[in-house]
Amino acid sequence: MQDVSPAATVSAGRGPDRPPVGAPAELLRRLRARTGADPVTHVERVPARAGEQAPWPDWTPEPLRAAFARRGVVAPWRHQARAADLAYAGRSVVVATGTASGKSLAYQLPALATLLADPRATVLYLAPTKALAADQLRAVAGLELDGVRPACYDGDTPRAERDWIRQHARFVLTNPDMLHHGILPGHARWSGFLRRLAYVIVDECHTYRGVFGSHVAHVLRRLRRQCARFGRTPVFILASATSGDPAATAGRLTGLPVSAVTEDASPRGGVTFALWEPPLLPPDATDTDATVATVTDLAPVRRSALRETADLLADTVAAGVRTLAFVRSRKGAEVVAANARRALDEAVPGLGERVAAYRGGYLREERRELERALLHGDLLGLASTNALELGVDLVGLDAVLICGWPGTRASLWQQAGRAGRSGGEALAVLVARDDPLDTYLVHHPEALFGRPVEATVLDPANPYVLAPQLACAAAEAPLTPADLELFGEGAKEAVDSLVEAGALRQRPTGWYWRHRERPEVDLRGEGGAPVCVVEAATGRLLGTVDGGSSHFLLHPGAVYLHQGVSYVVDALDLADGCALVHPEEPDWSTHARDVTSLTVAAVRSYVDAGPVGLFLGEVDVTSQVVSYQRRRIASGEVIDTRPLDLPARELRTVAVWFTLSPESMTSAGIAPADVSGALHAAEHAGIGLLPLMATCDRWDIGGLSTALHPDTEAPTVFVYDGHPGGAGFAERAYRTAAQWLRATRDAIAECGCEAGCPSCVQSPKCGNGNNPLSKPDAVRVLDVVLANLPTDHPPRQPGPADAPDSTTGAAGQEQDGQE
Ligand SMILES: [Zn+2]
Ligand SMILES: [Zn+2]
Repeated sequence: MQDVSPAATVSAGRGPDRPPVGAPAELLRRLRARTGADPVTHVERVPARAGEQAPWPDWTPEPLRAAFARRGVVAPWRHQARAADLAYAGRSVVVATGTASGKSLAYQLPALATLLADPRATVLYLAPTKALAADQLRAVAGLELDGVRPACYDGDTPRAERDWIRQHARFVLTNPDMLHHGILPGHARWSGFLRRLAYVIVDECHTYRGVFGSHVAHVLRRLRRQCARFGRTPVFILASATSGDPAATAGRLTGLPVSAVTEDASPRGGVTFALWEPPLLPPDATDTDATVATVTDLAPVRRSALRETADLLADTVAAGVRTLAFVRSRKGAEVVAANARRALDEAVPGLGERVAAYRGGYLREERRELERALLHGDLLGLASTNALELGVDLVGLDAVLICGWPGTRASLWQQAGRAGRSGGEALAVLVARDDPLDTYLVHHPEALFGRPVEATVLDPANPYVLAPQLACAAAEAPLTPADLELFGEGAKEAVDSLVEAGALRQRPTGWYWRHRERPEVDLRGEGGAPVCVVEAATGRLLGTVDGGSSHFLLHPGAVYLHQGVSYVVDALDLADGCALVHPEEPDWSTHARDVTSLTVAAVRSYVDAGPVGLFLGEVDVTSQVVSYQRRRIASGEVIDTRPLDLPARELRTVAVWFTLSPESMTSAGIAPADVSGALHAAEHAGIGLLPLMATCDRWDIGGLSTALHPDTEAPTVFVYDGHPGGAGFAERAYRTAAQWLRATRDAIAECGCEAGCPSCVQSPKCGNGNNPLSKPDAVRVLDVVLANLPTDHPPRQPGPADAPDSTTGAAGQEQDGQE
């Protein structure tokens, strides 16, 4: 870590009445005194924590102890020692603790100790990205242990080195894609390595979620199968960000029983953490630079989080406090920096120069210079995209402003963790955007500061993942009945379908892959082939977007962000699977809208709760992206809505839905004319709150509500997975329905708006233009559901009589595809 000059030496803007740096409570008092209504909904004091060390396990070899000592580690933290002990004893384990809590030592210790003790043993390390594997390689190589011979094996590894690595490296670092495409299909060449494999390390395992996570789960089962053929059962060590129920998630990912170590014993500085809700604007107020002709369904009613963050940044900088503001987009970061500069210059000419924007795309040297300037106080304020999260060593700040919920609690702590010098106190502020989840969180601090908020969700039983993965496994070695158990629920059905399709042949000894070529399966693409994003002028490939999201993200006119740099889509060529883009930073963002219809194909499980029914099942969704809105970045105002000409798409997926009897709605005081608006509003908010229960984002889920659905014959709200076969999100919603709908109800009821706003029941991507919506009736609907739904519901399997027919059309539905 770099030397940090004490902020007290910074003179600009400081006067005798400035608060002493290191007194975050005083700083916060000044910030909140700025406005009339108090925007602070909660203040949490996160106390400093002294670390708790443990002795080195007695099996630690002396050279390893010495190597860690050279790195400055005199003893492990207690959680590291505990995880290492479990793994060394042969128990698969997941370490799920905070950022910078030293998770890598927890797996390095048993893995390297084993490599030193057994000169034949090998270790396989998996990271979600090549960059992370390269970092880890540097860390392991830096220990300079004899005979470990660590090496990265990925797409960048020169051919000439690959043979050597297979034969001699004992600590191989790779990623799931390489394991899937390279190592497992070439298992014969890897047999020497696999038959001696002691540990499989799965780093950052919380990133294996949704459909990608489900694929990785089967890649790991394929790895276990190949090892088993050599009589080998490696121990899995997983490292995860803090998440809900890590043992269960790690168990789903590996298919093994996994113990969890979650008590973080590493030290940290104290932080005063404030939750900040920008004030509502007076009804007739127009936000300053509104050049908007049509302020229609999405006129913001709160001050935008960007403006609020810019003002807070100006205030902290004026107080001489070194502050980092996290903003989601590069354009947003620039808006925040520019507004803060302007405000500072108006107060003290020249002070604005102490604020800069920091974004992805800067050269390494430029980044280092900005970091240096901030740490030494030449700069006092920096507005940044979360590019900072990627390998930038910038900690020890006095204040961190977080503009909008960053999506997961792990990211929140990663960003807030930049504040706090050793021994010092720091301030962190989360500024809510006008979004249901942000609103809920600033009013429910227990969801942030209490237990972990989100569980990592994946669904290995997804037939759209399972069948291709079984084909890959069969191509590696014929499948046996015992293998079907390994691959779990649904494997037999998937194999049968592969036989029927002519991909596999059944023989007395098992199921054989029938083709010469291996199956082509992409772990990261789903819902159609991935679409390439190409810079038109240069032909440069910027990245890929999975087919399922491509209509939303890459329609003509879409603003596409890639590593913080903004592009605009010129054309989407669906036949060739590519989108042509050019670099451009307009001051609007784009939001695609689609129209959707849905039929129920099968009910998997349900809860009969009197007038209320809760269901999990398979549905067929037809959706079409029909238009997109342009919204001004700084203010959120709608500029216009433009039509699109894209084909409709069909999706067989998994949905959760609830029904209410019309009588129960009438008794709750909902007029018949308001039923549609009530359900529609509840659906929007429900979709907005689901990420609280599962790590999903807006592309992962869609919804639909209707006063009378032909398949349920009742008023119904559906929420479905946006991926073929489902990704586990709807299932998660079903299993946590009481909690999820309680949070949804509270988010709506506690929003201070009168008739509904983007913070509660409006949706930026509503296929119906947010019409009809009834905020008070949505609360009534959810009250009826919650009053009847048991908090701990035993799900029931449907009998034949329950099977719905799915013949009718879908008139009068309010659709919200993949919001
Ligand atoms: Zn509201
Ligand atoms: Zn809608």
